[in-house]
Amino acid sequence: MILGRACLLVAVSVTQLAAQRHYATAKVAAVESLSPNVKRVRLRMPRDYRFEAGQFALVRIPKTFVEAWNAKYKTSHREVARPYSFASSPKRLPVAEIIVQLAGPPPNRDVPPGITSTYIHTELKPGDSLEVSDGIGSLAKTGASDASRAIVLVAGGTGVAPLAGLLDHWFRTKSHKRRKVCLFFGARQRRDLILDAQFRRWAAKHSNFIYIPALSDPAPQDQWTGATGFINAVLDKHFPDTLDADVLIAGSPRMMQETVKVAEAKGIQKSQIRHDPIQVAP
Ligand SMILES: Cc1cc2nc3c(=O)[nH]c(=O)nc-3n(C[C@H](O)[C@H](O)[C@H](O)COP(=O)(O)OP(=O)(O)OC[C@H]3O[C@@H](n4cnc5c(N)ncnc54)[C@H](O)[C@@H]3O)c2cc1C
Repeated sequence: MILGRACLLVAVSVTQLAAQRHYATAKVAAVESLSPNVKRVRLRMPRDYRFEAGQFALVRIPKTFVEAWNAKYKTSHREVARPYSFASSPKRLPVAEIIVQLAGPPPNRDVPPGITSTYIHTELKPGDSLEVSDGIGSLAKTGASDASRAIVLVAGGTGVAPLAGLLDHWFRTKSHKRRKVCLFFGARQRRDLILDAQFRRWAAKHSNFIYIPALSDPAPQDQWTGATGFINAVLDKHFPDTLDADVLIAGSPRMMQETVKVAEAKGIQKSQIRHDPIQVAP
């Protein structure tokens, strides 16, 4: 099955996925701003709902919102469901968290903003219901995994969500305690480094965990003294020689492509590099 293959930048039709999935009705417990354009949604899932650490699910928005959107923007959406990664450990069920960035229109394009992220940012409130599919994906399943090998996590922007979920899970379950785990997290400015305080707390508490945040375009008020540049370049510089590690990547398609190139250039086997599939608009 397409989703099971490692290391390929795979295009998957969301319409196709949506048709095959079962949906559970979650209750919204909280909606919280993590940055000016990113919200964290805390959900209370049904008792029998399960997912694996690092997975994503499709979130389906209400038909009434879609119909109103079609009327407002003259669009022709039918069922609308988009993938969002779980940013929490399944050990916390029935609580599950997702992190959603508001998708604005591309620069200089007179087109509507993103429909699902607009719904989540402007309509969703505690007490509402939200339809969430079964867990999908196998980000955490590395091929010939070796218990002594380092784990390198590389995130761009809200791509940090599934990696935060994995870290949350590993620390709760005390797994990978003997492995060095590095998180490289790239964002534009300091305000975009969502969950930064959490990652710093984990780094202070767990001696095997190293956190390397980097900004690509720090604002003067950021007073940033950390790493700068795109996260693939920061990763490249940090490990100047060959590297033996399991590498998990999450971010924009471009960021994932560039990071795969860096990892492969360090001699990392394809079976040791993983990322989620890339979405293709239905
Ligand atoms: C495996 C996976 C996991 C993901 N996890 C997360 C996550 O954890 N958090 C997260 O925030 N996102 C995540 N995403 C991205 C997410 O699924 C959505 O793609 C994103 O939120 C945008 O969805 P939307 O419905 O708001 O936008 P859409 O309505 O799909 O629009 C997307 C973009 O197209 C623009 N657009 C609209 N109409 C046009 C047009 N006519 N011409 C050109 N452009 C147009 C919109 O302005 C918007 O910028 C993930 C994606 C994948 C594939």
